[in-house]
Amino acid sequence: MTAEHSGLALADPLRDCPLCPRLVEFRHESQEKYPHFYNGPVPSWGPDAADGGAKSVKLLVVGLAPGMKGANATGRPFTGDWAGDLLYATLDKFDFTEGTFAAHPGDGLKLKGCAITNAVRCVPPQNKPVGAEINTCRQFLTQTLDELPNLKVMVTLGKIAHDSLSRTLGERVAAHPFGHNRETAMGGYAVVSSYHCSRYNTNTGRLTPQMFEDVFARARALADG
Ligand code: SF4
Repeated sequence: MTAEHSGLALADPLRDCPLCPRLVEFRHESQEKYPHFYNGPVPSWGPDAADGGAKSVKLLVVGLAPGMKGANATGRPFTGDWAGDLLYATLDKFDFTEGTFAAHPGDGLKLKGCAITNAVRCVPPQNKPVGAEINTCRQFLTQTLDELPNLKVMVTLGKIAHDSLSRTLGERVAAHPFGHNRETAMGGYAVVSSYHCSRYNTNTGRLTPQMFEDVFARARALADG
């Protein structure tokens, strides 16, 4: 699979980015096990040029990393597993999407004023990147931010993404603690942190759809403000 749908034309990692040896090895294992999967660093996704491109983006959602059978399979962030079902349904409620999400890159869904990326672009074993991988991949988060000139708001999904964003913006992590629906200002942006929309968090009741909607209601207000 390819990721031509990424839309934003940002400087994303090379398709065979070699920088994290453990993740490269895991990628190769996945290529052998699931040869029909995308199996590579997943590009950021946002509106294409006809829909305003990078300049139209006011909200950036920062996730943790691709899921093995989600973004790693399809090449589009949060597409193919449960986390995407909740994320795109919620984005739709707050008018950040156009079209119908059908969990595959050819579903015709578009993002409106919103982009989605991950703190770590390659699928990690057990969904757990190690510190060195988070630090190494931060350069691509930095590039993504540099290429969104009208960005106002970010929603961070989970503590790892939130702390990595703090470091990306040169902030002290302790000064911006992670918490659900907690808002802070970092590097000139408003940042709202949220529990990750993983199946585990929703199955255990740690995150309910209403709690997630509360985060994006605030993000919508900040983007429009
Ligand atoms: S996680 Fe990021 S830095 Fe590491 S190999 Fe993948 S794209 Fe490269």
